Amino acid sequence: MRVITTIREMIDARTEWRSSQQVGFVPTMGYLHEGHLTLVRGACRENDTVIASIFVNPAQFGPREDLNTYPRDLPRDLRLLEEEGVDVVFAPTTEEMYPTGFVTYIDPTGALAEQAEGASRPGHFRGVATVVLKLFEIVRPQRAYFGQKDGQQVAVIARMAQDFNLPVQLRILPTVREADGLAMSSRNAYLLGEDRAAARVLYKALQAGRAAFEANPGGRASLATKALIDMVQAEPRARLDYAEIRDTRDFLLRETLVAPALLLIAAHVGPARLIDNFLLREDGTWDTGIIATSQD
Ligand code: AMP
Repeated sequence: MRVITTIREMIDARTEWRSSQQVGFVPTMGYLHEGHLTLVRGACRENDTVIASIFVNPAQFGPREDLNTYPRDLPRDLRLLEEEGVDVVFAPTTEEMYPTGFVTYIDPTGALAEQAEGASRPGHFRGVATVVLKLFEIVRPQRAYFGQKDGQQVAVIARMAQDFNLPVQLRILPTVREADGLAMSSRNAYLLGEDRAAARVLYKALQAGRAAFEANPGGRASLATKALIDMVQAEPRARLDYAEIRDTRDFLLRETLVAPALLLIAAHVGPARLIDNFLLREDGTWDTGIIATSQD
């Protein structure tokens, strides 16, 4: 496995490969878990060459967010990626990605980028879209892999790919969960003791929201939203940020319980801010994620 830290070397490596070679790309911020590794495995199955990136992107963190404490363990990440058969890891420094003089950003607008997660984290999707476009330009993959866990990120990137006619196929894989349903996240490292048990409330709330949805299809969305909110408020260690039901594509709030829809939740539990979602597809089937079976 080759580890590359400069953009020049990454672009040179990419141009060495035949154009017929299918390249799959998995962008991450590192501190890898089974959610990331599921994306890597998907990429390995579907491509000749797999590139993963590890870059904690300062542009997507707000001034009062956890950029400095975000968990990092590059040696362990490299070991895990090597075991999965990844060909190249691109792990640039901040200075490499945002050299002095960098001024050009991709700024997604509208409900999709400015509501839900975008309202709680102003500028977050500007940072995400900017780094993802930059990584796509450097790596030039045929396919790129993202997790449904970050449902709004998926919608923002899909919209950007459409708006800029990007020649990349997006592959979205289900949320991978711990045995008790908690969505895997690098930020789960912040959850100690009773906070870890309390964090399960996000999954429980989504289950309650889904049940309310199924009990009253076509009914008022506020009924299902209330089920989500009530569940989080019953957990004293959790502080709700938002619980909403939105259209999957434009991210406008749903007034009635119809597909396609996303049940979205964000809450603080102890020192961690956690997000999760259930997806109701257009064909009426749910994607609520999968419980991980293998872990190191
Ligand atoms: P991150 O390192 O948090 O930026 O995540 C990198 C990629 O892994 C993103 O596409 C995430 O959506 C995805 N991801 C993170 N957690 C999970 C999870 N529990 N299940 C599936 N994908 C995930």
